[in-house]
Amino acid sequence: MVIGIIGGGASGMAAAWAAAQNEQNQVLLFERQARLGRKLLATGNGRCNLTNLNAIAQGFHGENPAFAQPALESFPPEKVLAWFESLGLLTVSEETGRVYPYSDQANSVVDCLRFCLEKSNIRTLLGCEILKARKVGSQFCLETKEEKYLCDKVIVACGGLAGTKLGGSMAGYKLLGKLGHKSTELRPALVQLRSPWQGCVSLKGVRCNCAIEILKDDKLFSQSRGELQFTEYGLSGPVVFEISRDVCREAGCWEAKIDFLPQLSGEKLFALLDAKRETGLNCSELLTGILHNRLGRVLCKNAGIHPEPPISQLDDITLDNLANMLKGFYLELSEPMGMDSAQVTAGGVLTGQFNSQTMESKLTPGLYACGEVLDIDGDCGGYNLQWAWASGLTAGYSAGKETNDQN
Ligand SMILES: Cc1cc2nc3c(=O)[nH]c(=O)nc-3n(C[C@H](O)[C@H](O)[C@H](O)COP(=O)(O)OP(=O)(O)OC[C@H]3O[C@@H](n4cnc5c(N)ncnc54)[C@H](O)[C@@H]3O)c2cc1C
Repeated sequence: MVIGIIGGGASGMAAAWAAAQNEQNQVLLFERQARLGRKLLATGNGRCNLTNLNAIAQGFHGENPAFAQPALESFPPEKVLAWFESLGLLTVSEETGRVYPYSDQANSVVDCLRFCLEKSNIRTLLGCEILKARKVGSQFCLETKEEKYLCDKVIVACGGLAGTKLGGSMAGYKLLGKLGHKSTELRPALVQLRSPWQGCVSLKGVRCNCAIEILKDDKLFSQSRGELQFTEYGLSGPVVFEISRDVCREAGCWEAKIDFLPQLSGEKLFALLDAKRETGLNCSELLTGILHNRLGRVLCKNAGIHPEPPISQLDDITLDNLANMLKGFYLELSEPMGMDSAQVTAGGVLTGQFNSQTMESKLTPGLYACGEVLDIDGDCGGYNLQWAWASGLTAGYSAGKETNDQN
């Protein structure tokens, strides 16, 4: 049986490997880019956060997040890691549950996957974009600009629209759309939030730990705690990605309230600042040792504290105002960045039209989908790749196994 897999990203490579476990299957893996797993190379800032030991169904979103459960139960993180180990990949897990390759290099993950696909019953076609997929009798005809390929089964693993420069596109939604599958609205998720605050420009690249509250029209909308990163345009980092999915979707006044020192009470912070009045230092050093230097200076400037005078000249009211500002810094938010910058697509092909046990289409037998193209997206921290592996392995095994059932 010939199984065509459209997309050589995370889920497509997992599906190809699983489908090829049945030696009678001939797997054709189509990738339109010049190499396999291009997006994977950029994941986790080049380190590839390949799964999360805490990745359970609650960390996934979509119109019906429960759709993800059977695949995640069949291939939980431990099983995915055992699979990677069998491919020769050594991994290491952090306290947060995030798992990375021991080498700290995303290309180790891609290489192990690439090597495991070098099998006699897998043919990888690089630079090969599938433009059309249609049913021809009991088979499927996949068409590129030059060639046509007949397949008995097809797995669509084209990914989502997020990360456009790394290969994100509408291709999967369109191919499945032509075969009768509908998609939800698509939105960027795990994405930076824009802010018009000018301070962001000078703080570009600065990271800090914080507690963040998102307010809509002065009411608490969501909150999170963790690492924040400033960018030229606004806010980034895991703490922001977590809450970006739903922020600024509706009209209203959106603000972030940041506590830069969530571990300290206001009184303790005031006492720390008060003690600095005894040091003989200038105000430019007021927050030295407390916050990142650049962040400290920008926040002091924002509080109207000039760098030159000695700290001893600051009165209690000024210190109290600064302490309050550090514990509750308000920042106006505008709309989130677009699909280009997003790590994942929220929304996708309707999962109700697929069988969650097999990833097979309920409309077109023999057609499967896996990964980000489906209306499932996960939390920040390895959840999206966990979904890619689990759904890809499920689709690959199901498509491959049915050959056995038929024999
Ligand atoms: C910058 C960035 C960092 C990320 N970091 C993490 C992380 O650390 N941890 C995590 O869990 N998730 C991370 N993600 C998300 C994760 O990478 C994706 O959710 C995951 O790769 C989706 O897998 P996929 O197989 O569905 O799609 P992809 O990995 O995007 O693969 C789809 C493939 O299909 C190919 N393709 C598309 N259309 C066609 C066609 N018509 N013909 C042939 N080939 C086609 C594409 O070129 C692509 O290679 C990150 C994403 C980005 C953008």
